[in-house]
Amino acid sequence: PVRARFAPSPTGFLHLGSLRTALYNYLIAKSTGGTFLLRLEDTDQNRLIPGAEENIYQTLQWLGLKIDEGPEKGGKFAPYRQSERTAIYQKYIQVLLDKGLAYRCYCSKERLNQLRDSARLLKPPTTVSYDRYCLNHESPENATELPYTIRFKSPDSYPVFTDLLHGEINHQPQVNMTDRRYEDPVLIKSDGLPTYHFANVIDDHLMEITHVIRGEEWLASTPKHIALYDAFGWTPPKFVHIPLLTTINNKKLSKRSGDIDIMSLKSKGYLGEALINFSVLFGWSPRRELGEKYNEFHELKDLEKDFPLEGLTIGNAKVDFKKLDFFNKHYLGLKLTSDEAFLQQCVEDVYPALLERLNVDSIDKSYLAKVLKNVGPTLTNIKEFDNEGQFDFFFKDPKYQVEVLKQFTKVSDVSLFKAILEELSNAKDLHNLDSIVKSLVEEHDIKKKLVYQLLRFSITGSQSGIKLPIMIELLTQETVFKRINDLKS
Ligand code: GLU
Repeated sequence: PVRARFAPSPTGFLHLGSLRTALYNYLIAKSTGGTFLLRLEDTDQNRLIPGAEENIYQTLQWLGLKIDEGPEKGGKFAPYRQSERTAIYQKYIQVLLDKGLAYRCYCSKERLNQLRDSARLLKPPTTVSYDRYCLNHESPENATELPYTIRFKSPDSYPVFTDLLHGEINHQPQVNMTDRRYEDPVLIKSDGLPTYHFANVIDDHLMEITHVIRGEEWLASTPKHIALYDAFGWTPPKFVHIPLLTTINNKKLSKRSGDIDIMSLKSKGYLGEALINFSVLFGWSPRRELGEKYNEFHELKDLEKDFPLEGLTIGNAKVDFKKLDFFNKHYLGLKLTSDEAFLQQCVEDVYPALLERLNVDSIDKSYLAKVLKNVGPTLTNIKEFDNEGQFDFFFKDPKYQVEVLKQFTKVSDVSLFKAILEELSNAKDLHNLDSIVKSLVEEHDIKKKLVYQLLRFSITGSQSGIKLPIMIELLTQETVFKRINDLKS
């Protein structure tokens, strides 16, 4: 069975790129009846951000990505925080030391800096700079007093491996034989903590991870990781490196271009369903049978059942925030009309601001719910309900400005308005609106549209709102007749 993990470093808040990584790992586990685990890669203590760990839990929970094993949940491979696994890394580094596949390095910072500078001057220049001094010399006499790192004795050649998306990868270490420079990555830092590479490999092995789905930025490190698996004699998991997110203009996604804290989108009124749908399509599209229509709506509950990896695409994944609005509108409308608990929550959310704006003590909440249910599908975001009080006419009589009416009807003859309103107010029942309008059109030789505009104006005080029959139904005919009369006088 599949065991997949999300392994963020709590060095910042969860953003779109990491959400997509979490989602894909979650889905490959769920859709195959496997296990999804959360592991915190917090060994770089200097870069930790307060609140980042909490933010990871909140975000996953909000979006419905349920963790089977993790720091809070526990599990049979606990602990799941790398900072609590130091003894484990010590044990495994000893294995490599004993095999002669790792060695202590006592070189000073100054020496390493010199090596780095001189490596840049080599032809061709290289960033692989270590000269294996400590591998080839006895430890210094005062070794016990010196800080040291532990390096991997990287093999002369890296194994070829297959990425499920990129195919065969054959990256060789950039060894410079003439000048004797080697990659030999540091596995244990001078503070005794492991580096990302080492902890990541040890944990993926011990936690029995079968599939690693992660961003393409890690592809270059993978040969190193595979070499480590080989050094231990372990079988590596399967790797999938997914494309980096870009803006619609193919630029790297930055903080400014929208790679923002996911939870901040929640407070802006975006729905979890919309975010899931938005981000699942960054580098994945569903399988289609021949002639089958493209379906762009994907809900978590369906993806959990079916998430074929063949749908992954290698091209860059463009992030177009218009799409997020599009999905938000879709799910907002859907949920307001079909999810009673959600509707009630929205009522509670908009209620205080509405009371304040209307300057009243209370509003009938079941009426507010009906209004929300009906205006909901016209909104992109629930926050729009508050915008400029555009739906306040449902709760209080509008203020009429005849100039506005003249402007959008392009009619300046106020007596014509009066005549039409007079007849509208005489109608007994607005249910047969069509026939009322028809006779008005014949009598005054006007366009149908004008009658509807007038009626709408008397109800809303503007030309906005939703479908006339729905507004009449919600407000009741009595109120509508009253407003027609108010406008007339
Ligand atoms: N801690 C790494 C990150 O923050 C994990 C990379 C991986 O999945 O191996 O992206």
